[in-house]
Amino acid sequence: EQAQAAGVFWRRAAADLAELERRVSLMGELDEALRAGGIEVYYQPKLAIAEGRVASAEALVRWRHPERGFVGPDLFIPLAEQTDRIGPLTLYVLERVMEDLAQLRALGHQLTAAVNISAKLVASAEFNQAAGALLARGVVPPSVLIFEVTESATLEDPDAATEMLRAYRELGVTISMDDYGTGQSTLTYLRELPLSELKIDRSFVQHAHRNRNDGVMVRSTVQLAHELGLKVVAEGVEDEDCLDFLRQLGCDMAQGYLISRPLPAPALIEFMDRNSGE
Ligand code: C2E
Ligand code: CA
Ligand code: CA
Ligand code: CA
Repeated sequence: EQAQAAGVFWRRAAADLAELERRVSLMGELDEALRAGGIEVYYQPKLAIAEGRVASAEALVRWRHPERGFVGPDLFIPLAEQTDRIGPLTLYVLERVMEDLAQLRALGHQLTAAVNISAKLVASAEFNQAAGALLARGVVPPSVLIFEVTESATLEDPDAATEMLRAYRELGVTISMDDYGTGQSTLTYLRELPLSELKIDRSFVQHAHRNRNDGVMVRSTVQLAHELGLKVVAEGVEDEDCLDFLRQLGCDMAQGYLISRPLPAPALIEFMDRNSGE
């Protein structure tokens, strides 16, 4: 029995070690990708429901790994957060977004774009200084940028986080609360943060048109947000019935596979060209 327990112990230890090695090598490779251009930014269009047109897109990072193929953000973003690479990665994304937006604007597409800002970065003086310097370059005005943050962004140091978000807002950046409904103390943050937009998590949106409870939650969230003066984005819209339901509720924007998958910048330009002609 003891021998068996020891066997389990060593197998586990070996598995942990293999996992650790995998992470360490993945992070070294991420550094390399950041240097060598293996990180790409895709854009998922957001539909302004009443106007029936796309005026904004969310930037979603993609990693083309030379051997592993495509590595999704759900895997490497948490690792990047744990190993202090999320700052450089986010600055890379922000810079790309500003350049891509400048190109789109030169082509006549007045698009805004959202960048995901990890909880850890919101109160980081180092990140905020670098981001401020990037914004000050003036490649595009800060008013065409949206920063998506989650409630957890303010857990560690609420005062610092609120102050930073205010500073971005004063520059003209729109602050959006991401994944609304999945966190804790949500109402406190809605009251206290300098928000202009709220994104309802796709777990509520996906079945809202055919699940009574989900529908009630989406409807009351839209109402609450509007009464607080916030715009509402529904994420994870996958079918026409869902979009109709959101339209009836007066939800402002819809994002999801129904409108478009996330697209690389050239495909986004084609998408905008196709959809801007009446
Ligand atoms: P998120 O911010 O909630 O982004 C939305 C995710 O939902 C994206 O996954 C998107 O591809 C996916 N999605 C969009 N429409 C639909 C739909 O209709 N159905 C379904 N099933 N899924 C849909 P993605 O690109 O894999 O990103 C996952 C998460 O990784 C993001 O969730 C975000 O939290 C994080 N992430 C992505 N890019 C960045 C980044 O540049 N910085 C940071 N900090 N996080 C990022
Ligand atoms: Ca997001
Ligand atoms: Ca989200
Ligand atoms: Ca999400």
